[in-house]
Amino acid sequence: PGTAVTDRADAVPARVAAAEHVVKEFVSGFGIAVPRGATTRSAEDVAVAAGGLTPPLVVKAYGPGLVHKSEAGAVRLGLGSPVEAARAAAEIRAALVGSGVAVEGYLVEEQAPPGVEVIVGAVRDPSFGPVLLVGLGGVWTEVLRDTALRLCPITEDDARRMLSELRGAALLDGFRGSPAVDRDALVKVLLAVGGPGGVVESLGEGFTEFELNPVICTPEGAVAVDARLLGP
Ligand code: ADP
Ligand code: MG
Repeated sequence: PGTAVTDRADAVPARVAAAEHVVKEFVSGFGIAVPRGATTRSAEDVAVAAGGLTPPLVVKAYGPGLVHKSEAGAVRLGLGSPVEAARAAAEIRAALVGSGVAVEGYLVEEQAPPGVEVIVGAVRDPSFGPVLLVGLGGVWTEVLRDTALRLCPITEDDARRMLSELRGAALLDGFRGSPAVDRDALVKVLLAVGGPGGVVESLGEGFTEFELNPVICTPEGAVAVDARLLGP
C-alpha cells in the first residue's frame, strides 16, 4: 500500500491534473493549512512575487509533466531572500532545458519549519471506491511502508485509529526530546480529505490519485507543503 499513491510502472506516464498552487488553494478551502506563496510565469518575476513573503523561501517549478518535482531538480529549499529565490528559479529553468519537461511557471512560498513529515493520500479503487491513506515518512514513505488505510468517508474515530495503527506512531508523540506534534491538527487534515464533505467526496469521479506529501506536523499544527492531483 505504501506505493499505491505514487505512480505505477505499468501505467502511462503520470500527468498532474492541476498545478500545485491550484490544488493547495482548493484544499485550503477545506481548512487545510498551506504555506503562503505566489506564482509567476517567468523566473525573473519571482523576486517581485516573493516580496510579501517571509524567508526562508522555497521555489518549485510546475507543469503537467512535473509529477515528482525533486527528482526532476525542480525544488529549491532554504532561500534567504526574494533575489535568491529568483536566482534559484532561473537555475531550475536551466536544469530543465532539454529534459523534455515543460515548465509552465514557478511557485515561490514560505518554508514551513521542520517537523514530522506525513503523507495523506487517496486513491480511487475500481471496486471499493475512494480509499484514504496516511503514512509516516514523507519522501521516505515507500521505504518505510508504514501506512494505514480506510474506505471513505472516514469518521474522527477512524482518523485517530489510523494514526495509532502506524508502527512509527511514537514519532508523533515526541522522541529524543522533541515535543509531541499537534495530533488533533493532523486528525483534522485526515477528516478534511477523507471525511464527510471532504476533498475526496467533492472531487467525486474527478481524480484517480490525490496526495498531500508531505504534511509537516509540529506542536504548532499541520501544514501541507505539497499537493498533487492526478486526473482520471
Ligand atoms: P515533490 O514531492 O514533487 O518532489 P515537494 O513539493 O514535496 O516535491 O518538495 C520536496 C520536499 O521539499 C518535500 O518533501 C519537503 O520536505 C520539502 N518542502 C517542499 N516545500 C516545502 C515548504 N514550503 N516548506 C518546507 N519544506 C518544503
Ligand atoms: Mg512531495
